[in-house]
Amino acid sequence: MSNIKKDYEELVELRKQFSQAIEELEKNEYVEQYLDLINKETALILNEKQLYIELKMDEYVGCNHVWAEIENTDGRQGCLRCGLDESIMDRPDHGILLLELTEDERIMAAILNTGMYNKGIHVNCKCNLKEGMELFKELETNNPDTDDETLSKLFCIANEMKKRR
Ligand SMILES: [Zn+2]
Repeated sequence: MSNIKKDYEELVELRKQFSQAIEELEKNEYVEQYLDLINKETALILNEKQLYIELKMDEYVGCNHVWAEIENTDGRQGCLRCGLDESIMDRPDHGILLLELTEDERIMAAILNTGMYNKGIHVNCKCNLKEGMELFKELETNNPDTDDETLSKLFCIANEMKKRR
């Protein structure tokens, strides 16, 4: 017998032994419960993912956006309130193939590509989006009942002061 054929037959035999051992284990009550739980968990994970997407979509669609130009981009805007970020469209595939995007960024790309969001207002200054969002949240918390127009003016002043520090 050639060596390859011998190797093959030995491998098949070994694999069959393993398959049989697995089958035997699956008859065990606890293993059965375990597999059942895994199946249920998998179904829940899928549902959870779907709901998360819907939740984020809702957040982006329903937001009264406060747009600021993002620093170091070609005039791309980001929302200081919800984080919707136009600059993800500057990735090499323009957000179309979704190759380099995280789960959250894919949801953003879907929203940006359909254009189904409120226009909102624009602030008159540039910022880093993540830092800008933190600053805006702080201003919103410290100035409740203040309209977006006023908040956006406060934001640019605070943003400028922060840069000078
Ligand atoms: Zn927004």
